[in-house]
Amino acid sequence: MSLHLPDGKTLAVSIGADFDAHSVWMGTFGLSSPSYLSRGEFGAEVGVPRLLSLFERYGITTTWCTPAHTMITFTERFESILAGGHEIAAHGCWHEPVPKLEGDQERRLMEKTLELHDKYVGKRPRGYRSPAWDFTDETLSLLEEFGFEWDSSLMGRDFEPYHPKPVTVGWEEGSSFGPASPILEFPVSWFLDDFPVAEYIPGVNQGLGSSEVMFQRFKDHFDYAYRNVPGGVLAITVHPQTIGRAHHMIGFEKLIDYMSSFPGTWFAPLSDIYDTWGED
Ligand SMILES: [Zn+2]
Repeated sequence: MSLHLPDGKTLAVSIGADFDAHSVWMGTFGLSSPSYLSRGEFGAEVGVPRLLSLFERYGITTTWCTPAHTMITFTERFESILAGGHEIAAHGCWHEPVPKLEGDQERRLMEKTLELHDKYVGKRPRGYRSPAWDFTDETLSLLEEFGFEWDSSLMGRDFEPYHPKPVTVGWEEGSSFGPASPILEFPVSWFLDDFPVAEYIPGVNQGLGSSEVMFQRFKDHFDYAYRNVPGGVLAITVHPQTIGRAHHMIGFEKLIDYMSSFPGTWFAPLSDIYDTWGED
């Protein structure tokens, strides 16, 4: 099984825009004071229009992984993304810390999330990206049960989609793998994410890293994949509240311009890439 990209295309590029707004501060970091919330608000009010305008100029449609909390809190901005023809993927209810969820909380939040997708998107999401990219032992089977087709949260490959296998951890006897899930995994990496590099969170994350270094790293991944992994997929993750800052927008446009200059580059939403997956 492999991807069968459109004629003339050799590398799929997914720019996943994770529109977390307030919820990443609340759900992942437990921070809900006015300054942190205003950073999320910047993403909605400034970052989203900047990204939509950039994507429109380059004719890029992409996947916006959006917590339900953002749809409710910044409905107008969220609707502008839908109007741009982009895909919406599930990204939690309020950016909940999935590995810490207990009992039936994970199932309940998944049900609530899907209910809110029905209301605000008008349909169920085909894909899931876990908030902060981690699972419980139940997440994979929940995704299967709720009819998801793909996930983009794990890191077992870099440029090749794969069917993840649940792991039973063993210590002295080694760990063992269960049967492969029907869910198709589009692997992610913290190296291909703007948030850890850039976001200063006192006492938690140093952030404030070099924009040039970050985009050079993204570009190196692109160059390597383009040369060495034909038929692969490069999944880059950006956040409107992070990449939407002026200096990052300059670097991001240069990167998009560079990747666009290669005829084999195919920018697409993850579900469009998923639809090319099939028998060799
Ligand atoms: Zn997120």
